[in-house]
Amino acid sequence: MRINERFIQELQEKVDIESVISSSITLKRRGKTLVGLCPFHNEKTPSFTVYPESNSFYCFGCGAGGDVITFVRRMENLDYIEAVKSVAQMAGMSMPEDGYDDTLSKQRMKLLSANREAARFYHECLMDPKNRAALDYFLNRGLSINTIRRFGLGYAPNDWRELINHLKSKGFTEHELVLANLARRSDKDGRTNFYDNFRNRVMFPIIDLRGNVIAFGGRVMDDSKPKYINTSDTLVYKKSNGVFGLNLAKNANDNKLILVEGYMDVIALHQAGFTNAIACLGTAFTNEQANLLSRYADEVIICYDNDGAGRTATARALGVLNKTGLKLRVVQMTGGKDADEIIRTHGKERFADLLKGAASTTEYKLLEERAKRDLSTDDGKVEFLIAAAQVLASCGTIERDIYSTRLSNELGVSADSIKAQIKSAEGKLRRLEESRKHKEEMAAIEKSFEDKNNPERAANLKAARAEETLIASFMRNPDFYNKLKERISPEDFVTAFNRRIMQSLVKALENGIEPNLSAFSADFTPEEMDSVTRIFHLSSTLGNTLRECEDCIEVLKDKSSQKITDTSSMSDEEFLKLFKKK
Ligand SMILES: [Zn+2]
Repeated sequence: MRINERFIQELQEKVDIESVISSSITLKRRGKTLVGLCPFHNEKTPSFTVYPESNSFYCFGCGAGGDVITFVRRMENLDYIEAVKSVAQMAGMSMPEDGYDDTLSKQRMKLLSANREAARFYHECLMDPKNRAALDYFLNRGLSINTIRRFGLGYAPNDWRELINHLKSKGFTEHELVLANLARRSDKDGRTNFYDNFRNRVMFPIIDLRGNVIAFGGRVMDDSKPKYINTSDTLVYKKSNGVFGLNLAKNANDNKLILVEGYMDVIALHQAGFTNAIACLGTAFTNEQANLLSRYADEVIICYDNDGAGRTATARALGVLNKTGLKLRVVQMTGGKDADEIIRTHGKERFADLLKGAASTTEYKLLEERAKRDLSTDDGKVEFLIAAAQVLASCGTIERDIYSTRLSNELGVSADSIKAQIKSAEGKLRRLEESRKHKEEMAAIEKSFEDKNNPERAANLKAARAEETLIASFMRNPDFYNKLKERISPEDFVTAFNRRIMQSLVKALENGIEPNLSAFSADFTPEEMDSVTRIFHLSSTLGNTLRECEDCIEVLKDKSSQKITDTSSMSDEEFLKLFKKK
């Protein structure tokens, strides 16, 4: 079952893609289109394009594309039905009551409500006098009862089934609890058992931007292992997207975020009034997390622990965040190993001072290089200057000037020779950059043959191109289809993926539905919509003539010419690439 098509059409007409997308990212008008920085990949120059005329978007950088429903679906990580509901809400339309399949959507709602009930249960357990040791754990770490409530902290009792029994009495099944990763299942000696995933741990609920409890982190109260157990990926949670505290920090309103390592750092900072603190979950900082942060801030101040692991994590986070165009600064932690400890031993004023003195990315990198060497020896000085020149090679003139003078005064080397060293490092950097760009370009050409959604495309390039031309032409000129429909049908299509697109298109055309992208978004996943959108936008580069369509039909009817890739219309580079492959 699916949402009725007339409703989707009406929705598309009513909702304005420009206003929906511009509520998430900043768009600039460029002729008939709008452009902005793509929210689905890291970029500094905008390649994300919105087409108000066709109610669609397409990113020339990563190939993401689709209609307004696909956009909301990807952006908010929703399933199709939920995305339609969300868009309908924006348009002020109510959903039709008649049949649509919302199994997945219902399942997600169920998991979210199981999580909410679990969070409530854990919190009540924490406040239960018989679990005083757990409450003491938080109180001894300096948290107030108010803070404990604000973050909804809890305690998972030392029992194999207490949560399961409680949630079963609330109407949840064991199977649902396993799906939510609140319970685990074991099959031993032909018997199936279910048991609580979190036991004898203090609990940190992870809450998304809409206020849903999507996951938990559970920590032991002593030195036993593992120190943390976290919810693994579920229908409602993806660890690589997880950010702890963003639900509260997004309201902090100064466009800055303080990035710390753990749950306790975030909570201690919020209690001390630094309500823009967050932590990224998972072991490695990801592009998804960086993109998410760049939607809520202009500047990120990194405050990782003052140890080897913290420095490695800082270097990694700088690398990933640097691609987002966010302003970055790094706090040099002194007086304690992490934010929590510094505030507890020296007070919040000390931490505020550290924030104020946070180093720029350049300063931080120079400090790191310096710390690795002994500057009292000549060898140490030379090594440091070479490393410093590499850091400064990627900076602008003013920054170079400032730091060259500073280094010159400090190390007793002339500013001119430092600048010369930077120039030579810059040359090396540029050559590296050029070879990286070249590799990227070659990879892009490779990608234009291969389509992850249509694995048959590369081997049937000529036929696939004919299919795509037909689809794009028919979408733009339904009239062509009416004139040619006796001569071509989806069965003539060679590649299965394009055949599916053609089937959906024919269905829409036969039902008299205007063939725009929304006619496909119910039948194709957001990832598949990328390819559908690419094909859809081909029409702007095509001749859009009946003749062109007839030629394509010839290609598809001529079985002998199909299986080979056509090289006559390729650029030299494309041909070379193909040649190399063979
Ligand atoms: Zn993109």
